[in-house]
Amino acid sequence: MSNKKIVTVVGGGLAGCEAAHQISKLGIEVKLIEMRPEKTSPAHNSNDLAELVCSNSLKSDSLENASGILKEEMRQMGSLIIEAADNNRVPAGKALAVDRTKFAEYLTDKIESNPLINLVREEFKEIPQDLESPLIIASGPLTSESLSESIKQLSDSDHLYFYDSISPIIDAESIDYEIVYKASRYENGVEEEGDYLNCPLNREQYYEFIEELLSSEKIETRDFEKGIYFESCLPVEVIAERGKDTLRFGPARPVGLIDPRDGRMPYAVVQLRCENKEASMYNIVGFQTKLKYPEQRRVFRKIPGLENAEFMRYGSMHRNTYINSPELMRPTLQFKNNDLLFFAGQILGVEGYVESAAMGIISGINAAKVVRSEPLITPPRETALGSLIKYITDAEAKNFQPMNINFGLFPAVEGKMRKAEKRKLIAKTALDNISSFINP
Ligand SMILES: Cc1cc2nc3c(=O)[nH]c(=O)nc-3n(C[C@H](O)[C@H](O)[C@H](O)COP(=O)(O)OP(=O)(O)OC[C@H]3O[C@@H](n4cnc5c(N)ncnc54)[C@H](O)[C@@H]3O)c2cc1C
Repeated sequence: MSNKKIVTVVGGGLAGCEAAHQISKLGIEVKLIEMRPEKTSPAHNSNDLAELVCSNSLKSDSLENASGILKEEMRQMGSLIIEAADNNRVPAGKALAVDRTKFAEYLTDKIESNPLINLVREEFKEIPQDLESPLIIASGPLTSESLSESIKQLSDSDHLYFYDSISPIIDAESIDYEIVYKASRYENGVEEEGDYLNCPLNREQYYEFIEELLSSEKIETRDFEKGIYFESCLPVEVIAERGKDTLRFGPARPVGLIDPRDGRMPYAVVQLRCENKEASMYNIVGFQTKLKYPEQRRVFRKIPGLENAEFMRYGSMHRNTYINSPELMRPTLQFKNNDLLFFAGQILGVEGYVESAAMGIISGINAAKVVRSEPLITPPRETALGSLIKYITDAEAKNFQPMNINFGLFPAVEGKMRKAEKRKLIAKTALDNISSFINP
């Protein structure tokens, strides 16, 4: 790492390939280090770069969807990942789905044939203390053990996580405020922190909900994910399996949550906690889950007050290595206390193929700019890219959880307007902003 003119990128996944491509576009040499095939991850099956480890869908390509806006911004910024997806797409309605083999081959070929990129197949084990040129860590959700250990030491062990335990997040506008009520738990003379919205369940509603939860379809736990749960953070359906009343003595405990409208304590209460400063999103407290996405929509809509809930992010529990970005990262995707250290991809606490690649664009450009001694960039707040970066660097550090792009992350649109109109306006504002950002 003595050559000051090169950038080193660790991880030839979606973010790493994107970052390497962006760096080379700015005329800077890249050393891209990928551990496969020397060492493989528990989810990857091939030796190709940018392998899609699960679904072959990069989600919606429509501007009516937040993911579609993000993709369009990435297209405009010359994203290699989106180029590969556009060139290898398969019919999937409004979604951008790809032939996964051709997609990965296309990217591998582009990287291998790029004269400015030197692809090295070895495990990168340790972040040097005294970096002399920019280093981007894009080693993904299944970062190797030695590198995880090195990140842990660098970042303080409390700021590195090894699995997602995510509760669903719903749009505040889709909650029925005739049914839910505001109250914080008051128990033993102590009020709990923060304002909660409470969904009251009577006896009949509670047991009906438990039946639905128990009979719902779940995602299978893969071998390498077994044993990741802590007792204090079990999936909601596992809690319910332990006994029909276990949930109402756990996350759905009604104690101290008197409904101010009738002065009574419901049989059970599902709590919603505000997710962002704008109060446009709420998470269902303690409802981390492995229910399949359509099942989450069906079953959680049985909770009184959530009959029309719009899900901004579904709950999940899977293995995932990520850092506490609000604590550690700057909006340039530089580590707070090291100008030469960047992170990109899922390890930053974004969730999904497209979001991970999107972070590779910004880290890549900024690492190259460090070499060129140019000012670094952060996309405007009004864009999807800017909103995602704002979330990962400005969310509440204490409860930081990975996030995919969704409309709740964009700046709120003021004024009375139908949801579709609001979304159209958000899309237009984002695309106007990204184009004036690219061509000032
Ligand atoms: C089981 C599983 C299923 C998933 N399903 C989906 C899905 O359906 N849809 C979706 O959008 N997202 C899914 N994700 C998330 C998905 O992995 C990410 O969205 C995306 O792949 C992240 O891109 P990335 O570049 O950050 O990491 P990756 O694409 O994982 O790339 C990281 C690369 O770094 C390499 N690497 C790791 N450690 C080292 C090291 N020490 N030295 C050198 N190289 C190293 C790895 O081999 C890998 O090639 C899933 C994740 C997992 C674990």
